[in-house]
Amino acid sequence: MELQRYSKVTGKNPREMVLLRAYPCKWGKCAFCDYTMDNCENTEEMVLENHKILQNITGDLGVLDVIDSASCFELPEQTVAELRSIVQEKNISKMFTECHYMYRKWLQKWREFFGIPIVFRCGVESFDNAFRNNVLKKGADFTSPQQVAEYFEAVCLMVGIQGQTKEMIRRDIEALEQYFSYGCVNIYTPNTTPFQADEKLIEWFREEYAYLENNPQIEILWHNEDLGVGAVLEGGGRQ
Ligand code: SF4
Repeated sequence: MELQRYSKVTGKNPREMVLLRAYPCKWGKCAFCDYTMDNCENTEEMVLENHKILQNITGDLGVLDVIDSASCFELPEQTVAELRSIVQEKNISKMFTECHYMYRKWLQKWREFFGIPIVFRCGVESFDNAFRNNVLKKGADFTSPQQVAEYFEAVCLMVGIQGQTKEMIRRDIEALEQYFSYGCVNIYTPNTTPFQADEKLIEWFREEYAYLENNPQIEILWHNEDLGVGAVLEGGGRQ
């Protein structure tokens, strides 16, 4: 599918951003997720497409954000090797990427392989254990934000999905501010799953947490294409 796969983020944390192709998410069971429709099992096709996307990187901001529609550890090996060459050639000094909690013990390997600081975002969605695992089916079996913070400097939270409460969101934002250096708050956008957005909750969040817009380390994505990647260039929807 033709998606916008390269962008330059000029707001908070200026960086170049690439949306690469990856193998199917190993977890693949989150009830609200249909990103897996961008996954692929054809290594050759992915490596070629990723090569073309990576050619856009100039290195002029010194920081690169690498995402795919799974975890970073589900990128083809050849793509990861090419990524490292580009990091070295273009003098990239810091990288952001993201992965599922199940990969928490793999982070150090990537840091050593790339030889630069890497900020890993963990897709937490909510620190409410019952909501995260029983409703959203996230399959992330930690029981406290501190456990996540032992491995990850950054988390992605979700706000405004049906079933969530103000109390859960309050506790989630509190945990983000207290334990993590970076955060990304994704306002839920309805997709092909049965989950609806809770518009009242989103409106409440917009007013209650307006001050977060001034926090340089917390990004709020009101739409899932706010960072300039993921928009459909032709044809139907992203998923
Ligand atoms: S871990 Fe991420 S990509 Fe995998 S199913 Fe869950 S939300 Fe989707």
